[in-house]
Amino acid sequence: MKVTNHHNVPAPLVTLASQEYYSKGASQYSVTELLSPPRVRRLREQYKDRLEQDVTDMMWQLLGSALHVVMERGIMPGWISEERLFTDVNGVTISGQIDLQEETPDGVVLYDYKFTSAWAVMNDKVEWEEQLNLYGWLVQTVRRRRVTGLKICALIRDWSRHDVGKEGYPQRQIHVLDIPLWDYDTATKFVLERLEAHRESKVSADWGTDLPPCTAQERWQSETTYAVKREGRKTAIRVLKDLNEAQQLAEKEKGYVETRPGEPKRCTGNYCGVAAWCDQYRASLAEAERQ
Ligand code: SF4
Repeated sequence: MKVTNHHNVPAPLVTLASQEYYSKGASQYSVTELLSPPRVRRLREQYKDRLEQDVTDMMWQLLGSALHVVMERGIMPGWISEERLFTDVNGVTISGQIDLQEETPDGVVLYDYKFTSAWAVMNDKVEWEEQLNLYGWLVQTVRRRRVTGLKICALIRDWSRHDVGKEGYPQRQIHVLDIPLWDYDTATKFVLERLEAHRESKVSADWGTDLPPCTAQERWQSETTYAVKREGRKTAIRVLKDLNEAQQLAEKEKGYVETRPGEPKRCTGNYCGVAAWCDQYRASLAEAERQ
């Protein structure tokens, strides 16, 4: 991917942004790639020479890289920082780089640093659970060490002292979360399923047939909602998920219902980076236009 500098940011920042800090070494799939939607992975490979991002849109990636660069300075006995592990599954090499491992008498506790939002900390993030469990699986497979805990060390970007006390709001700006630990067989099954999904997608790409579509979850599809409104009032009386309920309320309130269509946010915001070349996205835009 090419990093552009359209707004004259100092060159060293561009150099830092251009460095692939998370090299996947000689592996075919990093854990991140294995977890990414197969369609995104294939399109990124297909259009790698045309992918670009401006350095001004990469602030959190830059800070993430900076954190990893300095993290090793704080390392101490009993802790392992930034270890990349490799293993082979049915001839495919998988690797994962683990931010931090704490050696305890009972086993290893894994940590992953995340620059994230308070909202993310307050809501279940299935991607974090999958990622940490794949790291746990790697440690058990490669290092033959028992894994006893998985933790996210969240560095909360938008934390506000004023919101402390609200239900579920993190008490501090650095917040450690426990992630559910899967048993080894469950994690192995999950690895095999991900590999199969990527294999199928690669076969489609090699044969020039349609790539498997991204799922609603992979597209970060938000739900369609129905706002009950009344003439002369700026804000909605209520926003509901059920159309019938909204229509009944609108009748009672002598108002009307405004449909707010759900949105595939990963596509519309081009968070996958390949929206420009995705026929699934193009088709969904055309469909939305028809409606
Ligand atoms: S644009 Fe949407 S559907 Fe297409 S690859 Fe990206 S996330 Fe998937």
